[in-house]
Amino acid sequence: MSNLRFKSVEEASGRKAVKVELPKERVETYYGKQVFNRQKMFEYLPKETFDSLVKAIDNREPLSREIADSVADGMKRWAIDNGARHYTHWFHPLTGSTAEKHDAFIEHDGKGGVVEKFNGKLLVQQEPDASSFPNGGIRNTFEARGYSAWDISSPAFIIDNTLCIPTVFISYTGESLDYKTPLLRALNSVDKAATRVARYFNPAVNHVQTYLGWEQEYFLVDEALFAARPDLVMTGRTLMGHESAKNQQLEDHYFGSIPSRVEAFMLDLETECHKLGIPAKTRHNEVAPNQFELAPVFEECNLANDHNLLLMSVMEEVAKRHNFRVLLHEKPFAGINGSGKHNNWSLGTDKGEMLFAPGKNSKDNLRFIAFVANVMAAVHRHNALLKASIMNATNAHRLGANEAPPAIISMFLGSQLSAILEAVENSEGNEKIMVKGKEEMRLDVAQIPELMIDNTDRNRTSPFAFTGNRFEYRAVGSSANCASALIALNAAVAAQLNDFADKVDARISNGEELDKAILAEVRVLVKASKAIHFDGNGYSEEWKEEAARRGLDTETSAPLMYDAYMLPSSIEMFDKAGVFSKKEIEARNEVKWEMYTKKIQIESRVLGDLAINHIIPAAIRYQSLLLDNVYKIKELFKGDKSDRIAAQDLASIESISEHISEIKSGVAAMVDARRKANRIESEREKSIAYHDDVAPKMETIRYHIDKLELMVDNEIWPLPKYRELLFIR
Ligand code: ADP
Ligand code: MG
Repeated sequence: MSNLRFKSVEEASGRKAVKVELPKERVETYYGKQVFNRQKMFEYLPKETFDSLVKAIDNREPLSREIADSVADGMKRWAIDNGARHYTHWFHPLTGSTAEKHDAFIEHDGKGGVVEKFNGKLLVQQEPDASSFPNGGIRNTFEARGYSAWDISSPAFIIDNTLCIPTVFISYTGESLDYKTPLLRALNSVDKAATRVARYFNPAVNHVQTYLGWEQEYFLVDEALFAARPDLVMTGRTLMGHESAKNQQLEDHYFGSIPSRVEAFMLDLETECHKLGIPAKTRHNEVAPNQFELAPVFEECNLANDHNLLLMSVMEEVAKRHNFRVLLHEKPFAGINGSGKHNNWSLGTDKGEMLFAPGKNSKDNLRFIAFVANVMAAVHRHNALLKASIMNATNAHRLGANEAPPAIISMFLGSQLSAILEAVENSEGNEKIMVKGKEEMRLDVAQIPELMIDNTDRNRTSPFAFTGNRFEYRAVGSSANCASALIALNAAVAAQLNDFADKVDARISNGEELDKAILAEVRVLVKASKAIHFDGNGYSEEWKEEAARRGLDTETSAPLMYDAYMLPSSIEMFDKAGVFSKKEIEARNEVKWEMYTKKIQIESRVLGDLAINHIIPAAIRYQSLLLDNVYKIKELFKGDKSDRIAAQDLASIESISEHISEIKSGVAAMVDARRKANRIESEREKSIAYHDDVAPKMETIRYHIDKLELMVDNEIWPLPKYRELLFIR
């Protein structure tokens, strides 16, 4: 009998590591080779053009048309010198992935031939026929087309002979249709607000930058096994599959030695990253079998996010060269850990001060405490929104599943920072700050002691943790565009910092001393936002109850979480931060609900097909083998004896029948629930129906399929099993 599963298992287990051709030069020589960075700009642009471009980038100013033409000319020469034939505007539509439309550099030369042409107009702005990108009704409402415009703060790069120009994607009436536009707005807003506060401590500060260091988790599976799993191909996760006897219980994979096939892939991937200027640095095995992580050196947030999106697509290409498929889904396999993308986030001034790092003197430390308190206040006030910003149909499998943070946003501060904030809170009246250390210290406001924050004070169960000089936002999903989370976080922090500065300014105009005014406002924030601070075990049941008592958002349904975007506090905050208009929020929520529905709809269809066309026929085949056997037993042995001998088989036959009938009725009920849901007009209501009525039915069907997997003859089972998918040989 030909069995696709066995063929694929054989193919997969016979593979050897693919040999990687490494560049002969040292990393420094080829790092950024495919990027039009400042060094290339200097080489290819006239001096005045170079100066104007750098000035525009540094001061976030628009480019004049003449300069754009001159930049385009130099960029084209560099690209062609480096093998490019096409160019594209590279943007991040609300689908969550990246989009590009390629054009060749050629134009008619009027003599029957072509010339290679590219000018400022083509560089700066394009009009992709993008009517089929999700827009939540914005284009219908405004009857406007979308256009893409160059984001000069992120350098162009070459990939597969195409010059890619990072762009924003907006409607003609100015509404954002992508992730990059609001991210840039949020970063700009946090720059202004944080600069205002940072100047209390150092008046020379001109700008505050946001930094992001993401940690990308992913799974690898062999390509042959992947191809034999329609659910992986179509949905990125296994919709069925019984746990394998061994998975992560021995904890032997985490930080273990990397299999040679995987190591070859990683080396290849890192080399590609380095050519593209992505500073890939750390690699290691993750907790689950076949799960790995790649982390770069952190960078400015917008660039770091572009690099993460680029990485996700480069990964898929490189994986294919090694006969792997990369799974970026948050929960490809039930019963073992899922994948996240921790976002290490911090703020720093143009004078080199890291704003979440304690300093050497009291002034630095007051600044540190002020910034931390403002983050606390922002995260507290907008905890429901922050959760909505990381939630989608795929991440929903991970959060709250006892391996990742729960579906509640809280903040871990660690024992030292907690003690400091407590001391700040209790210092009212006497204006003294007490910090318990080796010896008890009693200090004046202006003498907050030198703080040494211990970086090893970690809590893996917290979705948002302070880690020494930054916050680690851990709730972000592995397949996500980080921008969604960072738009909400940066906008919320910007709005909060502005509010803080207004209050401090008011105190100063009333004659208060600067330090005292700041400390007084910090104290207000620490008191008001205490509920967000939780250093305990985020996985525990008690925490869910405690969080509800504290008034934190404990909603677990993704479609309902999105309502947080429509809260008056969110609308007001986004407006103040200049990030989203109410129209944009409404449109984006429509897209979120629609995407949620579509994801579940596809999964449900794939599951139905597999159940009816793969699983049930296999189960019936095995059942008839058993029936055959029972007949033969009855022939050979008579009476009581035959009953005894056939008893086990008969029990199995019955049990298989029951599972088959449960699967059949389950699929019928699921299809029915889908039909009902599809008739619902409102995107919100429809996604709620998919969440409440369709998704749970998938779980029931899966349960019976997984039971059958344990019973049916291994040679008949049609799909690669977990034990085959999860262990790379
Ligand atoms: P871990 O797994 O222990 O949390 P990793 O080394 O895997 O740590 O990843 C940490 C990430 O945080 C890296 O991308 C690193 O560059 C980044 N990072 C370090 N310091 C900062 C900072 N101040 N701001 C933002 N990101 C940072
Ligand atoms: Mg890590």
